Amino acid sequence: MAWLVGYPREKINWHPTIDPEKCVKCGMCMNCGRNVYDWTEEGPVVARPNQCIVGCNTCANLCMGNAISFPEKETIREIYKREKIWSKVKKQLEEEGKIKTKQKSEEESGCCDGGCCS
Ligand code: SF4
Ligand code: SF4
Repeated sequence: MAWLVGYPREKINWHPTIDPEKCVKCGMCMNCGRNVYDWTEEGPVVARPNQCIVGCNTCANLCMGNAISFPEKETIREIYKREKIWSKVKKQLEEEGKIKTKQKSEEESGCCDGGCCS
């Protein structure tokens, strides 16, 4: 999983919180592709918080009642920096062929490093 590259999901505090006073029961949050919410007689509840994609806040952006909130993004940015997750994600994406660094593409193109490509 390139988002966390093995870092334990449960150690990252990133999931939606619903303010029931603001919720107008529009149902938009039930569109979450990660099945984070359940619908109850009282409206939506956050049933599986750790299935939320770290860094995603789409449901909050589209919530009709503006009732969904998330932690400050700095809390996850600090973890990504401390645990070197950004560089690990990049390495994995390179291995999967999803991104190419300039250095790698030069290697693949057989650059002789003779100054012709600079
Ligand atoms: S999107 Fe917001 S207002 Fe709509 S049901 Fe979900 S929490 Fe309530
Ligand atoms: S932030 Fe994204 S993944 Fe998380 S609950 Fe909302 S829509 Fe689902």
